[in-house]
Amino acid sequence: MTKDDRLAFRFDCGAVWLNLLATRGRTFSAAPVERLATPARLAEWLERCELSPARPPGQGDLHRTWTLREALRSLALATVEERPPPADAVAHLSAFLREHDDPVRLSADDRLRREPPLTTAHALARIARQAVDQMTGSDRLALKSCPEPDCRGVFVDPPGRRRWCPSPACASRGRVRALRARRRNVAPSAPPGADDGRSPSPQP
Ligand SMILES: [Zn+2]
Repeated sequence: MTKDDRLAFRFDCGAVWLNLLATRGRTFSAAPVERLATPARLAEWLERCELSPARPPGQGDLHRTWTLREALRSLALATVEERPPPADAVAHLSAFLREHDDPVRLSADDRLRREPPLTTAHALARIARQAVDQMTGSDRLALKSCPEPDCRGVFVDPPGRRRWCPSPACASRGRVRALRARRRNVAPSAPPGADDGRSPSPQP
């Protein structure tokens, strides 16, 4: 795996807010991969999401993004695992949304558009609202988390067929482990065909 692959953004998790979670790779390993290491990388990521703020992000925006991302991650994992959400994450998200009200202003030329966010905080507020909608409505039932202990990436899996997150690295590591387990015991630890894992995508 080259350094470039590890630092590549992932846009395969099924929603912008989930792709935000994936800007930190191998989160639960001893050496997580920070893909939003600088304000310039944050600007690039927001541009890829068509959420470029009128004012480019600075260092404070970068820290705000990291904090919001980790609050959303703990809420997402609690949602998937059907346990009560951590109170500090709920408080952070509530305060963030209260502080950054971003009214919807639409325009239409060749397609429907929304006015660009004024600041990075406003862009983050749009992402946070998307997260809230998904975690509090029936769409939460399509959320799943990767069983790789160092990844635990959250993704959308509407058909309920995928076992690992869309990163082929997690699927192949998981399969190797399952194969070893099968060789050790007779009972298999992973159902056959539980994951297609064939679509190419960057690293977890
Ligand atoms: Zn994974």
